[in-house]
Amino acid sequence: MINITLPIVGKKERQLIKEVLDSRILASGEYVERFEQSFAKYCGVKFGIANANGTSSLHVSLLMCGIKPGDKVVTTPFSFIATSNSILFCRAEPVFVDIDPKTFNINPVELEKTLKMEKNIKAVLVVHLYGLPCDMDAILKLKKKYKFKLIEDSCQAHGAEFRCRKVGSFGDVAAFSFYTTKNMMTGEGGIVLTNDIKADRYGRQLINHGRDRHSATTVLGYNYRLTNLAAAIGIAQFEQLESRIVKRIANAWKYNEVFKDLDFLQTPYIPENCRHVFHQYTIRISASERKKFIDYLSNNGIGSGIYYNTVLYKQPFYKQLGYRSGLCKEAEKAAGEVLSLPVHPSLSKSDTDKIIEVIRGYKK
Ligand SMILES: *Cc1c(COP(=O)(O)O)cnc(C)c1O
Repeated sequence: MINITLPIVGKKERQLIKEVLDSRILASGEYVERFEQSFAKYCGVKFGIANANGTSSLHVSLLMCGIKPGDKVVTTPFSFIATSNSILFCRAEPVFVDIDPKTFNINPVELEKTLKMEKNIKAVLVVHLYGLPCDMDAILKLKKKYKFKLIEDSCQAHGAEFRCRKVGSFGDVAAFSFYTTKNMMTGEGGIVLTNDIKADRYGRQLINHGRDRHSATTVLGYNYRLTNLAAAIGIAQFEQLESRIVKRIANAWKYNEVFKDLDFLQTPYIPENCRHVFHQYTIRISASERKKFIDYLSNNGIGSGIYYNTVLYKQPFYKQLGYRSGLCKEAEKAAGEVLSLPVHPSLSKSDTDKIIEVIRGYKK
């Protein structure tokens, strides 16, 4: 079976883990600091706060932007549940704005409609879904005009670029995940990026029980710290990030080329001004055909995945909060039609050749 995802663990990970174990400094330590500095620098941002996971990174990002109970935060309904859950952690209210069906990312035209209608939007939490940056020209224009805090959920987009600038460097704050299946990983882990020194200081307190540099608890904080052990994996993974992204992109471009004449599927759109890093290679196929196609792939030894089967506000917990079906039509349609195919850097040439041959052999 060719899996939809397969984490890579190399010699360097083992070597650095051993160094950390031998040092007996397993929790916070200098590997965490090294990891923070190298990842922040790579993204072109001053400060990085490594922490427990992508979800805690989102929570802390929103708090760093001053989100308070009752505040409205705009986001996309087409993402992983942690995106909108993190808004609820702050007792704030998620306001969902529909996606652009071509990119699967938040639609700036719809975003402006909402900003015009709802006068008190405190922040916008955009998601660079599947590794494709949002339309940052349009979003930054709206930020200037409507003056909201901007948070980037970059959990799927390490190394992605908009106009040659890395995602994670556009917002007031950005959150990344290093969960096992992401483009780089630490088992569980995450990082918050910001250029604001005060926000950085506050964020560091938030992940460490609210303690300041003199160990005084001056705000309500959490234990969201990353371990030295996880950071050791991260340092090794980071060294391979670029070469692994390049492999993902090569696989994706090859698929786009050989699938473009197939009428039963639609290949992912790659805007000219973007570096799409293909955390997922996601096609569209009609809702009536999707199940049959998945079974066909599986019978031929090819794994696939649906990200995401439903929009966030249709989850039972969100329905209970009063959200109704039909709110974001394009996102709901996409949830019925998306399908992700294996694109990860562990695929061999014979794997991708097989995927291509099997898919090209599909009969409706
Ligand atoms: C993975 C992911 C998260 C959450 O990250 P964890 O590290 O699993 O907590 C949040 N948002 C998006 C878009 C993700 O893909």
